[in-house]
Amino acid sequence: MEYSGEEFDVIVIGAGVMGSSAAYQAAKRGHRTLLLEQFDFLHHRGSSHGESRTIRATYPEDYYTDLVLESYALWERAESEIGYKVCFKAHQFDMGPAHSKSLRAVIASCRKNSLPHKALDAQQVARQFSGRIRIPEDWVGVYCEMGGVIKPTKAVSMFQTLALQNGAVLRDNSEVTEIKSLKNGGVLVTTGRGSHGNNDNNGGQFRGKKCVVTVGAWTRKLVKAVSGVELPIQPLETTVCYWRIKEGHVPDYAIGGDFPTFASYGEPYIYGTPSLEYPGLIKVAVHGGYPCDPDERPWGPGMSLEAMKEWIEGRFSGRVDSGGPVATQLCMYSMTPDEDFVLDFLGGEFGKDVVVGGGFSGHGFKMAPAVGRVLADLALTGEAKGVDLKYFRIGRFEENPKGNVKDYEDQVNHFFND
Ligand SMILES: Cc1cc2nc3c(=O)[nH]c(=O)nc-3n(C[C@H](O)[C@H](O)[C@H](O)COP(=O)(O)OP(=O)(O)OC[C@H]3O[C@@H](n4cnc5c(N)ncnc54)[C@H](O)[C@@H]3O)c2cc1C
Repeated sequence: MEYSGEEFDVIVIGAGVMGSSAAYQAAKRGHRTLLLEQFDFLHHRGSSHGESRTIRATYPEDYYTDLVLESYALWERAESEIGYKVCFKAHQFDMGPAHSKSLRAVIASCRKNSLPHKALDAQQVARQFSGRIRIPEDWVGVYCEMGGVIKPTKAVSMFQTLALQNGAVLRDNSEVTEIKSLKNGGVLVTTGRGSHGNNDNNGGQFRGKKCVVTVGAWTRKLVKAVSGVELPIQPLETTVCYWRIKEGHVPDYAIGGDFPTFASYGEPYIYGTPSLEYPGLIKVAVHGGYPCDPDERPWGPGMSLEAMKEWIEGRFSGRVDSGGPVATQLCMYSMTPDEDFVLDFLGGEFGKDVVVGGGFSGHGFKMAPAVGRVLADLALTGEAKGVDLKYFRIGRFEENPKGNVKDYEDQVNHFFND
C-alpha cells in the first residue's frame, strides 16, 4: 500500500449527491478537497441516479422547511455558476384522508412558515386541476406554490464539475476500506484495490485534516467497520414506475403547464412528478422498498402494483393507463427508524474529525445543497448555522431506538419485508 503523500483539508467519501455537494462547498471555500467514490462516477447502484426527484417545501416536520428554502436558493446559485439548469419549476400538491395527522401537520407547517398554499376539498381539487386529479369526498388537498423537479444525475454531475472547477481532486473506483484517527489530529483514509471490478488503481492512502462520510446505503457497513458504531440505517431497494398517459391527455400531465409534483398520504404513501423525462409517461411510485444488502442486491422483486393501479385509476380519472408501468428503475433508500437524516460528528476516537451525512430516507435529494453546506460547515468550522441539528444527531437512537418522536405520525411502515 503506497502512501501517496497527498494531504487534504477535507476528504469526502462517497460521490452521490450529498458527497458531491459537500465537496463543492468545501472546495469553493478554498479548502483542499478530495472526493472518493467506490464505483464509477455517476453509477446507478446508489441513490442519486435517474431522471427526476421532487423538490417541495411541504413537510409535516417543520424542521425541514428552512433546509428546503435554503436549498431552492442554493440550487439556483449552483445553476448560475455552471450555466445550465437542473431544477424545473412546478407547484406541489399533497393529498390524503382528511383525518391524516401527517397531512394536517403539513397544513400547519405551511401556515406557520407562511408558505403560499391553499387547502382544498374534493370539489375544489377537481376544479383546480380541471378533472386531471380527483380525490375522494373524505380527502383534502394542499396546493403549494413551492414544488419542482430536479434532474438527479445531471445535478450530481453539476456538483462534481463545480467541485473540480474549484480545485477539488476527484477519484472514482476508489473504495474506502479504512479510516484511522491520527495521533496529531486528522485522519488517514485507505482505499482498496477495489473489490468491485472495473478498477485500475492500486489503492492508496490519503491524509485529511477532516473527513466527511456520505456513503448512502453503505453507511451502516462503513461506519461499523471503521468505528464499531452501529447506526440504524437500513438499505432498501425501491422501484420507480412510469405509466403511460392516454392519448389526448399527454400535454395535461406535462411539466411546464400547471400540473404539479404530488404526494398522497396514506397507506401506501404514493408520490410522483409531472411528465418530463420520458414524453408521454408519468412517474408514479410508492415510497418504500425491500430491505437488502447494497452489495448483494436482489434487483427485484418490484413492489406490488395493486395499490398503485387503484390509486392511478381513481386519482387520474382514467386518463393514465393503470394496467401496469411501461418502464421501471431500481434505486436504493437508506432508512432511519424516524426517516430523519443523520448529520453529526462520528465522535469516539474521531471526535470532530469525521462527520457523517446519511440516512436520507428517500427524501434527501431536494436538500442536497443545504446538506452539503451543513456538512462542510461541520467539518471545517465544527458547527453549522441555520439548522437545528438536534433532530439529526446520532445520539437520538441511544435515547430512543425509534429516534425522533412524531406525535402526528400515521402508522405507516415503509419497509416491505415479504
Ligand atoms: C427512487 C428514489 C426516489 C427518490 N425521490 C426523491 C425525491 O423525489 N425527492 C427527494 O428529495 N429525494 C428523493 N430520493 C432520495 C434521494 O435520492 C437520496 O436521499 C439521495 O440521493 C441520497 O444521496 P447520498 O449521496 O446519501 O447517497 P448515494 O447517492 O447512494 O451516494 C453514496 C455514494 O457513496 C459511495 N460509497 C459507498 N461506500 C463507499 C466506500 N466505502 N468508499 C467510497 N465510496 C463509497 C456509493 O457508491 C455512492 O456513490 C429518492 C431516492 C430514490 C432511490
